[in-house]
Amino acid sequence: MRLSAQRKEIGNACRRMHRDRLVVGTSGNISVRVDDLVAITPSGTDYETLAAEDVLVVGLDGTVVCGEHLPSSELPMHLAVYAATDARSIVHTHSLFATSVGTVCDELPAVHYAINALGGPVRVAPYATFGSDELAAGVAAALHERTGALMRNHGAITIGPTLAAAYDRAVKLEWLSELYWRAMLLGTPSVLSTDELSAVRDQARRKAYRP
Ligand SMILES: [Zn+2]
Repeated sequence: MRLSAQRKEIGNACRRMHRDRLVVGTSGNISVRVDDLVAITPSGTDYETLAAEDVLVVGLDGTVVCGEHLPSSELPMHLAVYAATDARSIVHTHSLFATSVGTVCDELPAVHYAINALGGPVRVAPYATFGSDELAAGVAAALHERTGALMRNHGAITIGPTLAAAYDRAVKLEWLSELYWRAMLLGTPSVLSTDELSAVRDQARRKAYRP
C-alpha cells in the first residue's frame, strides 16, 4: 500500500480531531505530502471508523493513485497550498472559536505571543464555496508567510513540516481564537507589536541555546 505509514497517521489524527472537538460529523480534512504524492482523507467518511486503507493517495495534479473512495471535496485547496508553500501536511478544521472569529473579524490579532507558532497575526481568507478553486486560491494567499489561516464563514487551516506540527498548530489556533473571544468579552484586548513578537522569537532562540 503506497504511503501506508502516512495513511495510518492520518486515520489516527482524524479520530483525535473528532475527540478534540475540532470538527463535527464528517467535516474537516487532513493530508500529508511525500515527494509528488499526497495522502488525503476521503470525502464524507465517519472519522470514528476511518481505516488507513480509506485514505486516498493522489498526485499533485489530483489524479487518484490509489484508494477506492472520492477524495476530500477540499482537495483543490490542499493542492493549491502544497503548490504555494513548503508544507508537508495540512489540517483543515471547522473548530468553533476559530470559525467564529473568522466570521466576524478580518484578522486574529497577536493577543498572545503563542501566535508566533502561526507566523504572526492570522489572516482570514475570503469566503468562497467549499471545494472551489476560488476558495483554494484565497486560502493559499492567506497563508503567505504564515502557518495558519482562518476561512470566512467556514473554518481554519494549518500547515507544517509534519502532521504532528500541523495538528499542534490547529489546536493552538483554536486556543488563540477562544482567548481572543474571551478577551473581547472583557473589553478591547491589547495587541503585541511586530517588535514584541520578534523579541519573543529572539528569546526563544536564546533559551533553547545550550552551550
Ligand atoms: Zn471545510
